[in-house]
Amino acid sequence: MVAPTTPKTTPYQKKDFQSDQEIRWCPGCGDYAILNAAQQVFAQLGFPKHKMVMVSGIGCSSRFPYYVNTYGFQSTPCAGTWTSRSCSSTTASTV
Ligand code: SF4
Repeated sequence: MVAPTTPKTTPYQKKDFQSDQEIRWCPGCGDYAILNAAQQVFAQLGFPKHKMVMVSGIGCSSRFPYYVNTYGFQSTPCAGTWTSRSCSSTTASTV
């Protein structure tokens, strides 16, 4: 996974949140729609992506951090919840 680049001064577009990772969900999986919507919303929010982190647990949808070009990692379910709270109170903001 490639780390986010330096802060952007122009408005974000959806493609700014697309990673170079091959998506490995089943054809027709609803996770595609969620990923697509999230990337569009992230772009519209204009929140600096170098301050964003995707934290996931287990399961197919937990590959989400690999497919979004922000900081992120996959963890265990409970550790993911704990970590996202830690991130929001220390180095990053929640969206
Ligand atoms: S949740 Fe996983 S197993 Fe189910 S359709 Fe999506 S990728 Fe396939």
